[in-house]
Formats: sequence, structure tokens, C-alpha cells
Amino acid sequence: MIKLVNSFLTSYDKEKVNNFLENYNNMDPINELKGKIKRIFQINNCYPVNSGSSALHIALMSIGIKENDDVICTTHTCVAILNAIKYVGANLVLVDCNYDVNKMDYNIKLKDINKKITSKTKAVIIPHMFGVACEIEEIKNIGIPIIEDITLSVGAKFNDGSLIGTKGDITVSSFHRTKVISSDVGGVIWCNNQKYEKNIYSILDYDGMYSVQYKKTYNYVMGDINAVLAASQIDQLEKFISIRRKNADILNMELRDFECINIPCIDNNDIYFRYIIEINNEMTSEYIVNEGIKKGIQFGRGVFPALHNVLGLNNDDFINSERAQKKLLSIPVYPGLSKSDLIYMCDTLKNILRS
Ligand SMILES: *Cc1c(COP(=O)(O)O)cnc(C)c1O
Repeated sequence: MIKLVNSFLTSYDKEKVNNFLENYNNMDPINELKGKIKRIFQINNCYPVNSGSSALHIALMSIGIKENDDVICTTHTCVAILNAIKYVGANLVLVDCNYDVNKMDYNIKLKDINKKITSKTKAVIIPHMFGVACEIEEIKNIGIPIIEDITLSVGAKFNDGSLIGTKGDITVSSFHRTKVISSDVGGVIWCNNQKYEKNIYSILDYDGMYSVQYKKTYNYVMGDINAVLAASQIDQLEKFISIRRKNADILNMELRDFECINIPCIDNNDIYFRYIIEINNEMTSEYIVNEGIKKGIQFGRGVFPALHNVLGLNNDDFINSERAQKKLLSIPVYPGLSKSDLIYMCDTLKNILRS
């Protein structure tokens, strides 16, 4: 079976993890990981944590979000974001996504954010979806704290060439094995706005456990082995991204003259975390996913179900997300796929579309 998602662990990763196990008591992998992330993103500090969900929870707590506050996010994303909002008792206010096949842009529809803002709105969460940056510059002046979630696009860049994760007030990422960077499980949080730095430190602070005055803290810190793997994967990020682009080039070559689909044509700021096409005959992506499994391929549907589906909201308010779920197909593109895997997937897809 060619899976939709796979971690790409290299001999370099294995060497780093083995070396750590042999020197277990004499190493400080968390600090090493912090150093690498700080250098890449040009930030003052960051906090490796045990999951992306924990990072989101800390982000919301550090802004001070509490019961009955509103948090705005796109419907077309992962349920972990809904969970984190529930952890602090806040309400999720959903916005539809873009639908731009050519740019592979299914990020939050920025123009619709303003329509949803009230006095209860306390934060906006922006997940950069599928490897493509959401241009948040234009919503920064609203004055509501922005949490960038870079999980699915680590290494992608904004139009101005700066890395995503450098413009919001707080940045979070998951390093779960199904994402861009794998630490098996794990994540990271940092802030670009000093206002929240102290709060993040205080939420994670272990010293607090020994102080006379009780203070509630969260044991969300990343494990050392996970930190070794995260650091080793980050060392290879550029290489991983260039393999993704090469794989996407092969898919482009194989699929570009085929009439029943529209393919993406994206620029070098994007990392091809996903390769998403639009089906323009009468078939649905659900049908193709089921046919693919019979041929040993896990095609995907981008996001399915979306958050408005999970919450039972009116589909008519989320036209682009609904269309995306019916007509988009995600083709595996990660490092570790061989050229023959890629060609087999394209041939199989064409056969299904012709049948
Ligand atoms: C997977 C995911 C998360 C959650 O990360 P975990 O490490 O699984 O808790 C958060 N945000 C996005 C965009 C994700 O895709």
C-alpha cells in the first residue's frame, strides 16, 4: 500500500538517536533543538512541547482566552484546533476557506474574517494549510492576536520571502510523525510578541513545583528522545523540501496533459506538503479514494470532514470547503516515494478517471 502520509526517517536520524541513547545522561537535546529553531526563524526563544495540541492550548492560555471568548479559525483544518479551543472553554467561530486550485490555496478566506469579529473575539488561529503560506500581513492591523499554526507548512515562505511563523503574535507547530517534521510526537511554541513570553514560561515552569506558593503548571515539555529526532529532521528540512518539489515535478509532468483534472502550479515559496488536484469530471474524490485503495494507493481528500461538518453547522455557509471535500484529491508526494511509485499513482488515477 502506498500510504497518504509517511515519516521519512534517514540514516542520519538513526545515527543521532543512537548516539543520544549511548550518551543519555550527558546530553541536552532540548537546548540543542531550541538553538536550531531560533537560528532558522530568527527568534529570541522557543519552547519544545509534547504535541501540537499542547502548543495550541498553551497559546490560547497565554493570551488569556477563557470561557465564552470567541476564537476565529478556518473550517478547513484539523480537529486539534477545535480541541484546544474546547480545553479553555472558548467558542470556535468558523470562516470558509479559499478555493484556488492553481495556487493550491485552501487557506482561511481572509476577507471573511472581518465579518465575524465582535467584542468577544479574542484571537484568530491561522493554519498555513498543505505547504502554502496564508498572507496574514493584511489582517495584522485588525489588532486581534494572531496564532500562526505552521504544522503543515514548516519551511514555506510568505510572498515577501520571510518564513511563515515569523509574523503572528504566537507560532505553534506539531512535529507529529504525520507532519512536515517528525519527532514521533511533539511540537513547539514561540512568540514574536514579548507580551506573551512570560505567560508561556509560567505555564510550563517546573520551578513552580518547588515554590511555597502553589501555582498551576502544565507538564507539556517535550521528551529528550523526541527532541533529538526533531533536531535531526530540522537539519534535513531543506533536503526534504527539495525532494518534495522534485516529486511534485514528476506528478506535474505525468498529469499535465490529462483532461479530467486541474493541477496546481505553485511557486518556490511553497513546500508541497500535499499535492492537490481538482477533479473536473462528474466523479467525486470519495469515489476515487475508494477505487485507489483497491489498487494499493491511499489518495486523500485534503481535509475531510471539515470542522463545520463535525459541529453540524449549515453547509451553505462553507461553500468552498464543501466543494473542496467533493472535488479535491490529494496525491502522496512525500520524500521516500520512488519515481515508479509516483508514475504508478498517476497511471492508476488516469485509469480510474477514464473508467
Ligand atoms: C495535526 C495538527 C495539529 C495537532 O498536532 P498534534 O501534535 O497531533 O497534537 C495541530 N494543527 C494542525 C494544523 C495539525 O495538522
